[in-house]
Amino acid sequence: MSTPPDKPAAFAEQARLYARVDEAVTAIGTVCINRGICCDFDKVDHILYATDLEIDYLIEVHGPPPRPAHPNQCPYQVDGMCAARAARPIGCRTYFCDPTGVDARSLVYEQHYALIKKIQTTYGYSHRYSPLLLTLAQHPSRSQPPH
Ligand code: SF4
Repeated sequence: MSTPPDKPAAFAEQARLYARVDEAVTAIGTVCINRGICCDFDKVDHILYATDLEIDYLIEVHGPPPRPAHPNQCPYQVDGMCAARAARPIGCRTYFCDPTGVDARSLVYEQHYALIKKIQTTYGYSHRYSPLLLTLAQHPSRSQPPH
């Protein structure tokens, strides 16, 4: 039987890494004007991937995923805004509809994604990388009937 991941230690490292990602993206000068379309994947024709560590951390901080307005919308988007900003995955932190600095943001993503893999290795996480909405839709909380 494999050892379960050391979630508290992994989450603490993940929080520090996200802070560095945000600093790097801010330094690039990309701007979010809250159009609210980047998390409505029908509108942006985009599939957002995240690792199991990222998804576990998202759920740990923001709670189980609620039911989205429609299947291709992130369940953490509320009234067009992200309600999970503190623990949103790196893909969310580096994807903007503003094209400013797209190459620089890709580099930030690549560099920090490599560091996420190191955290996963260190604390016993797999490197599974899956479509975020699909994995959230399979969360046990979603098998409950809607309120
Ligand atoms: S976690 Fe937040 S930023 Fe990421 S897709 Fe969901 S609503 Fe959008």
